[in-house]
Amino acid sequence: MTRPITGGCLCGSIRYAIAGDPPMQVTCHCKNCQRQAGTAFSCVVGMPPEMLEIDGEVKVYKDHGESGSAVYREFCGKCGSPVFTRADSASGMIFVKAGTFDDAERFSPTMHLFTKSQQHWLDTGSVPSFATMPAEGSD
Ligand SMILES: [Zn+2]
Ligand SMILES: [Zn+2]
Repeated sequence: MTRPITGGCLCGSIRYAIAGDPPMQVTCHCKNCQRQAGTAFSCVVGMPPEMLEIDGEVKVYKDHGESGSAVYREFCGKCGSPVFTRADSASGMIFVKAGTFDDAERFSPTMHLFTKSQQHWLDTGSVPSFATMPAEGSD
């Protein structure tokens, strides 16, 4: 079994541990991620909630995704770092902002999502990119 991935917010009030490598590792270039993270895109890993252990209190901002369904953006009320995301459209998953990992080596994105709002100066290289999300059921 791989060693856990640890991380936390800027002030350390929120800490977490992920048991093993998350099955989903992507970046999200959607406008809402850009605004929330204050940067060009979010680094995001997704996993079933039982893989994630959280220590600390989060605040929640209820956002909405493109489809209009609720997206719960969880952040530290003390330092403001965005740390976790839950979405009604992906109820079996929790997402962690991989920029908060202690060890950035543990994050390797396999896709860029929502590149229709990708910032103009950014080169995503050889990693596959999708204007929104890859079509469900396709490969
Ligand atoms: Zn904090
Ligand atoms: Zn996004």
